[in-house]
Formats: sequence, C-alpha cells, structure tokens
Amino acid sequence: MTSPIADNLARVRDRMAEAALRAGRSPEEVTLVAVSKIQPAAAVREAFDAGQRVFGENYVQEAIAKMDALPAEAVWHMVGRLQSNKAKIAAARFRAVQTVDSPKLARALERHAAEAGRPVEGLIQLNWSREAAKAGIQDEAALRELIEEAAEFRSLRIVGLMTIPDPEYGEQALRRHFAEMRQLRENLAKEYGIGADFSELSMGMSRDYEWAIEEGATIVRVGTAIFGARP
Ligand SMILES: *Cc1c(COP(=O)(O)O)cnc(C)c1O
Repeated sequence: MTSPIADNLARVRDRMAEAALRAGRSPEEVTLVAVSKIQPAAAVREAFDAGQRVFGENYVQEAIAKMDALPAEAVWHMVGRLQSNKAKIAAARFRAVQTVDSPKLARALERHAAEAGRPVEGLIQLNWSREAAKAGIQDEAALRELIEEAAEFRSLRIVGLMTIPDPEYGEQALRRHFAEMRQLRENLAKEYGIGADFSELSMGMSRDYEWAIEEGATIVRVGTAIFGARP
C-alpha cells in the first residue's frame, strides 16, 4: 500500500527529472527539499519512509520537535525567516540556512556554528522584487558586501542564492526572474573565483518548480505538491 504522500513524492520527482532533461541537465543536479512546515511529524515520517531525506522547515521550535521524532539520516534546511536570537539553536541543528538575509544574521550563524564545532551551509536570500513584507537582500551592492564578508568565515559556508519570487508573477515573469538569478550567480561565482563553492540556486516551489529547474535551479522547495494543503 502506498500513501498519498509517497505517490505525490514520486510524481514530483518524475516531473523534476523531466524538467531537468528538457533543459539538457542531469536530474541528479537538482535537490528536492520537502517543505514540511505546519505538517505533523507523522507526515514527514511518511515522506522519509518513501525515501525523501531533505526537509525544509520555517519555524525553529517546530523543526526541532520533528528532528527529534525523525531518524538521524534526515537532513534539515531552514527556509523561514530566522531572527538572530535563534541563530544559536539553528546553527546547532540545521544543515543549511537558506534564509541568510543580513550581515548580522550571517555573523551570528558564523559565531554559533564555530562554537558548536559544526559547519553550516548558508544561502543568501534575495528579495529582488523588493516586497516590503518579505525578508531578503534587495540589491547587488548589499549582496556583494555580504559575500565579501562571508569569504572570511570558517564555519558558515555561503553556498549560493535563494529566492522567493513575487507571488503575482505569471510564467513569463517567473522564468525571467529565475534566469536573472542564474546569471547573477554565474557572474558572482566567476568574478570572485568561487565557482565550486557558490554553486547553489534555491528557487521553485509547488507551482513553479518545473520552470525553475528549466531555468537553472539546483534546489527546489516543494511543500503543498507533496504533503497537500497545510492544515
Ligand atoms: C512554504 C514554503 C515553500 C513551499 O511552498 P509550496 O507552495 O507549499 O510548495 C517553499 N519555500 C518557502 C520559503 C516556504 O516558506
């Protein structure tokens, strides 16, 4: 007997692979982060049992309860807004923080990851459409400053960029935005000589992950298409 979550996962993985192949890419280049915020640990466990290993969570306390309930092989990415005062606990438990949105948070993660003696991957969250309610770095000058400062870090490793596009965007605007992110990452990697270390592009959610993969995403963050609507 298969669960709806296992079926959904299989469908998402198939579509991801097809999108990669359409773009002449290898399906292995793209990591699926199953975004399990608000979903109960039992649902996350079903996904784990269906082979999913990487999960995205938005709230630190909720995430830790699920980490404690799931096998240690599960890998956790923070994809929600992170206050600097939660950086210590986040640095101790998450493999990656996709929502590094300020130098202050980056420094806090660097310090706490060093204290915890464990490396943490960071993605810089961009807010290129400059929505007031959304976190993220809003322009290239601020982005460059953060990358230059993080080059000195020993424990927080900045591995790429993350974006949540304007929800008003249709397919054309989404694709244009994704392609712009891809170009931006390429340019920065080349300019700073950090190609291999700055290789990740986290973009694409349930409604647009196939377009994001066609435009160059290396990480997609999919919730609803796997777990159904959030309770
Ligand atoms: C909730 C969330 C997702 C997943 O969104 P779905 O539309 O349910 O796939 C992806 N990224 C972030 C940052 C989120 O907060």
